[in-house]
Amino acid sequence: MLKLTRVNFNLIKNKLLRQQKKVEEDLKSLKDPVMTDGLAESSEPGTESWMADVHNQAVALKSTLQDLLEKIKKSLIYLKSGKYGKCERCGKAIEAQRLEAVPIATLCLSCSKK
Ligand SMILES: [Zn+2]
Repeated sequence: MLKLTRVNFNLIKNKLLRQQKKVEEDLKSLKDPVMTDGLAESSEPGTESWMADVHNQAVALKSTLQDLLEKIKKSLIYLKSGKYGKCERCGKAIEAQRLEAVPIATLCLSCSKK
């Protein structure tokens, strides 16, 4: 295998677009939580706290997904404007292999370890 040090922007763009689509679909499916059917009228002990748990998990998942979506969109904007691939902390170019593995990375390897 050849090890390219140059960033493959096309590959990254395709990855980001695919990821964006998936996250948007996940967010859509979150809008209709499964928990409302039947359970609301149930008087089973523990149901309420279980529902709260499910609800909290859904809320947490939603904010994680929205966060991710923002990062993806930001990366795509950076790709267009040519700012993509720079470390937000030290300003150096982020390792090509790292970007290809984690396209939304905004820190280089050494900064992300700090
Ligand atoms: Zn850095």
